[in-house]
Amino acid sequence: MEQTAPKPSSKIRAPPIFIQMVGIKPTIEYLKSMNISPADFIVREFDDKFTRIYPGSIEIYNSIIAAMKTSNRKFFTYTPRQLKIKTIVLKGIRGGYDENDVKEALEDLKLNEVRITKVSKMIFDKNKPNLYHFIVSVTHDSQTAPMTRTKRLLSQPIRWERLRKPIIFMCKRCQQTGHSSSNCHLAPVCVKCAGDHESKDCHFQTTQDRSTLKCINCNETGHPASYRGCPALKLIADARKADKQQNIMKKRKITQAINNYVKPGLTYANKVETMHNNNYYPPLPRNKTSAPSYNWPFEEPSTIQPPPQVNTLDHSMDNNSNRIDRLMADIYTTV
Ligand SMILES: [Zn+2]
Ligand SMILES: [Zn+2]
Ligand SMILES: [Zn+2]
Repeated sequence: MEQTAPKPSSKIRAPPIFIQMVGIKPTIEYLKSMNISPADFIVREFDDKFTRIYPGSIEIYNSIIAAMKTSNRKFFTYTPRQLKIKTIVLKGIRGGYDENDVKEALEDLKLNEVRITKVSKMIFDKNKPNLYHFIVSVTHDSQTAPMTRTKRLLSQPIRWERLRKPIIFMCKRCQQTGHSSSNCHLAPVCVKCAGDHESKDCHFQTTQDRSTLKCINCNETGHPASYRGCPALKLIADARKADKQQNIMKKRKITQAINNYVKPGLTYANKVETMHNNNYYPPLPRNKTSAPSYNWPFEEPSTIQPPPQVNTLDHSMDNNSNRIDRLMADIYTTV
């Protein structure tokens, strides 16, 4: 029977789900057994442990997550875009005001497009508790400009800065990179000894010899999985930096293409409309060979690049290359 593509209920793409299951067929059979219609998702191979599921909508995403939780499946995913928060650093508030005072003062400004979810205090140096800033979190759909235009708060001059995010962040549950423990339903791996228990339950004592530490990501002893000098983490950091560079280039190319298209007398809005109405603007090159039926809101995985050659790794990491691939999962699944 011909399957028809489902109607997207929202324009927002659902993030992929990585189920710890091998094979496309067993994955589809499992989802069917959980009453998820095969018309509502796409399944792709990922590696020797995980299979990727692309839900057709955010509602389907939620149903699949719920099904996996009730059936105790191991999986990880990413936070849906609309649930992500934006964070900004607020500097300059002194004089004993705490996070609640700041939150209230910001809310008193009655900024329409801004919904504050949280304000937290950030102390940089434990020895200098008076040196602090505030981190203001707002919902994903909030505008930050009305807030960052504000130059005074609690009768003090303030300034706003972007919060610098680390190049790599690690899941505190499974010690893989790219996803956070709040989206992780994999078996726990200990950061200190690579054992199959949560890090807080480890037998390792801080007084113990550091050579007994073991890193799950590179298989070496003598450092924990969170060690920034870990060869596996360094490799991922490099890949991520390269990927960032590539994204900047891509954006530049698109902007250039748009600029080249702009003609005198045509506003940008006109132009965008023309592009959409007449299908005038040539689509960006896409490789359609592997997935012929992308007429629905899935992230087309065709832009996925193969992971870089891992020939700089020593022998122990060669054996571990599948894990390295997985650590890079989010690089190669996001555009
Ligand atoms: Zn994890
Ligand atoms: Zn342990
Ligand atoms: Zn390591």
